[in-house]
Amino acid sequence: MTELSLRGLTKRFGNHTAVDDVTLDVPDGSFICLLGPSGCGKTTLLRLLAGLEEPTAGEVSVAGQDQTNVPPEKREFGMVFQSLALFPHLSVADNVAYPLSIRGRPRAESRKRADELLAQVQLAGMGDRRIHQLSGGQRQRVAIARGLAIEPKVFLLDEPLSALDANLREQMQVELRQLQQRLGVTTVVVTHDQKEALTMADIVIVMDKGRVQQVGAPMEVYRDP
Ligand code: ADP
Ligand code: ADP
Repeated sequence: MTELSLRGLTKRFGNHTAVDDVTLDVPDGSFICLLGPSGCGKTTLLRLLAGLEEPTAGEVSVAGQDQTNVPPEKREFGMVFQSLALFPHLSVADNVAYPLSIRGRPRAESRKRADELLAQVQLAGMGDRRIHQLSGGQRQRVAIARGLAIEPKVFLLDEPLSALDANLREQMQVELRQLQQRLGVTTVVVTHDQKEALTMADIVIVMDKGRVQQVGAPMEVYRDP
């Protein structure tokens, strides 16, 4: 089944076209890596999906529902930003629970959900720490847990592992893939690392200058020149 569907999705900034007429169907539960050089439109595409940018043309739908008039806080997307964008003044658990609190969920319920998610990302018992007390890899895990807080239909991650050293990055690639398989959530990860895409993806989408150049299984995409 198609979970996520993009039809003619286009975003122009002034006369620069950042995302150019992208049409894609993403199967339910698949792990997608979006590859391409800096400036090719990967981040803009994720922001369009999350509703953080308004498309110039085209539409996004999730499970057959057009998202055009759905504001970001009502969309069933979870997002991990490249900068992580964690709140330094909040505890780890309050960071994870934040998407639930802005949706008005009761505090006790949100805290329980945050603790469950922290266990899923191997941070059980760390909910009361502050962000600055965590290592880089632990912060990454907090951002992943926060992105999953609302039980999103689609999980979006913008270069989630790029700040980590090589060993930790490889470990987190495996962890992220395992977590995604356990939850079955349709996932789109932006990366510019081909090897990372090979480790994690079911489907690789190669972008260039705002357009989709290639879509396929990792081995198919890499075989072609
Ligand atoms: P990538 O994530 O692949 O590096 P981006 O989506 O960040 O690419 O950017 C695609 C293009 O759109 C770039 O040329 C970038 O400078 C431009 N762009 C992105 N966001 C904006 C914006 N808010 N205003 C103007 N130009 C933008
Ligand atoms: P990322 O680090 O996730 O790739 P960028 O550093 O490309 O994101 O952009 C960070 C923010 O700045 C985003 O909100 C993006 O839309 C905006 N942005 C990117 N390029 C431009 C630009 N040329 N002019 C204005 N805003 C931009």
